[in-house]
Amino acid sequence: MIFSNTIYNIHEFILSTRSILLPHQCFSCQSINYTYGICSICWLQLRFNHKPACIKCFTPFSFNYGQNIMCGKCIQKSNSKKYYLNYLRSALFYNTLAKKLILKFKNGQAFYLSKLFAKWMLSVSHDILKNTNLFIPVPLHANRIWWRGYNQSVLLSQNLSQLTHIPTYTNILLRSKQTCSQEGLSAKNRQKNVRGVFTINRSHMQLIRKKQIILIDDVCTTSATLNACAKTLKKFGAITVHALTVASTNKML
Ligand SMILES: [Zn+2]
Ligand SMILES: [Zn+2]
Repeated sequence: MIFSNTIYNIHEFILSTRSILLPHQCFSCQSINYTYGICSICWLQLRFNHKPACIKCFTPFSFNYGQNIMCGKCIQKSNSKKYYLNYLRSALFYNTLAKKLILKFKNGQAFYLSKLFAKWMLSVSHDILKNTNLFIPVPLHANRIWWRGYNQSVLLSQNLSQLTHIPTYTNILLRSKQTCSQEGLSAKNRQKNVRGVFTINRSHMQLIRKKQIILIDDVCTTSATLNACAKTLKKFGAITVHALTVASTNKML
């Protein structure tokens, strides 16, 4: 992570220098615009999640049904013993433009997006942040970090820590096996793919006991990965495990 932090800091420096010398470019389409971040045309294509929404998965409602209301899907699975995640909060609906931006951030080393994403994530998570003790980014396998050079969830988590002063711990939850990509897999196969994949660093077990934790990731599609992480953290004593992501498909397990 020292290597990726150095690259991140260099990118930050170039970006701040460029913003003094040159006009801002939209992070998505590169058109010149006069605000820092996304131009107005791209902005209109993003779908931000908002209240009123399901208390559990944050899928927006078109009508305000009152406080602490769950959507039909969450009510159906509320008694399931296979479900370990408490609440999910995501800033965006995972549409075409959200996907484009996240892939740019994830695979294109567009580190500057992590700051913007963290601000958006913060705006939808005030209720779950209140009693949170720590952030844990979803870990990548060492081989994946070697090829990509960084873990995008760690960058998001570190930016959120700067904004909230809640610490990020990257050495508690570990990915013990390398799995194939979840993309293109059915919900059932996604669950199978991540079964038994996560483990805890036993020397840091006391850091999660009786703690309220928020898992940080870029995207939630079926929540199979986040649920597997939550299962592991709760097995080792975490009280609540919420998840906070940049985007979600609003289709939890
Ligand atoms: Zn644009
Ligand atoms: Zn729901």
